[in-house]
Amino acid sequence: MSKKVILCRPNGFCAGVERAVQIVDLALDVYGAPVYVNHEIVHNHHVVDALSAKGAVFLRDDGEVETVPEGALLIYSAHGVSPELRRMARDRKLRELDATCPLVTKVHMEALRFARQGYHIFLIGHADHVEVIGVLGETPEAITIVEPHRGQALERHVADLPEPPTDKLIYLTQTTLNVDDCLKVVAVLRRRFPSLAGPPSEDICYATSNRQNAVKETAQRVDFFIVVGAIISSNSKRLVEVAREAGCAAALFQNVDEVKRVDLAAYPRIGVTAGASTPASLVQAVLDHLADQGYGQAEPYDHVREDMHFNLPHQLRQDMLAQGMAV
Ligand code: SF4
Repeated sequence: MSKKVILCRPNGFCAGVERAVQIVDLALDVYGAPVYVNHEIVHNHHVVDALSAKGAVFLRDDGEVETVPEGALLIYSAHGVSPELRRMARDRKLRELDATCPLVTKVHMEALRFARQGYHIFLIGHADHVEVIGVLGETPEAITIVEPHRGQALERHVADLPEPPTDKLIYLTQTTLNVDDCLKVVAVLRRRFPSLAGPPSEDICYATSNRQNAVKETAQRVDFFIVVGAIISSNSKRLVEVAREAGCAAALFQNVDEVKRVDLAAYPRIGVTAGASTPASLVQAVLDHLADQGYGQAEPYDHVREDMHFNLPHQLRQDMLAQGMAV
């Protein structure tokens, strides 16, 4: 069988990540170094290293806010932050710039709104992920986290959840979950809590769904999926799961050097995709390597064309205009 590569599109950067990276980059130009960034701006160390070299200082955890000099600029990452962190920043008189993806902000707003309306919220997501920690921080007394376990572990997990204080129940979700796993969690939750309502529109974002659907539609046509992304990237890990669930071997690679260490001889047909925080240059390096290995030019598979765009924060645009910069 002749060798070939299918490149899933869309792959890589989403509109939320594009915006967050641009905000840090522009903030360095407008306000000068250093600027402080709460948590890695996106889950990819190539991006973080490039911005660090320009003068961005990344804080590893919320406690490090206490080390930021008074009056300095603090940027919140694409994953969002809890109100407690915003309070700590204001107590230190830090200037704030919010790079939270608007689709993550939407989940924060939903949590606040439904809590105010007397709902108890089941937040489906990974308890240790910064996005979930941020949403939980909005209204912790009204939220129970439900982990997207699988099989029997899920049934047990839901059976063990504490009895909520009301039967006005709703679920919300992390934006980067495996879509199919999430549906299973909702089904198991509804068996125990038949009154469970859902969000007015999906919380799993368009970029997560599109990248997963492209993989599903391609998985039958390849023998192995290369997912390019960081090991801490939730949506990249979900792409590996989706490929495997669709019956295709798959693995996560952080860069082309990791791909070079794998013997691909057993895989004449390879699929390539990348998580929403993966720069295009890393994907291109993998495609170049595969071409060197005799796989030829990648054949694109287009699931859908994305044209999502999020505006920069108002304050940043104002300050750019004041300095005569194009907005
Ligand atoms: Fe926003 Fe989705 Fe991108 Fe996360 S993956 S930054 S929610 S568009």
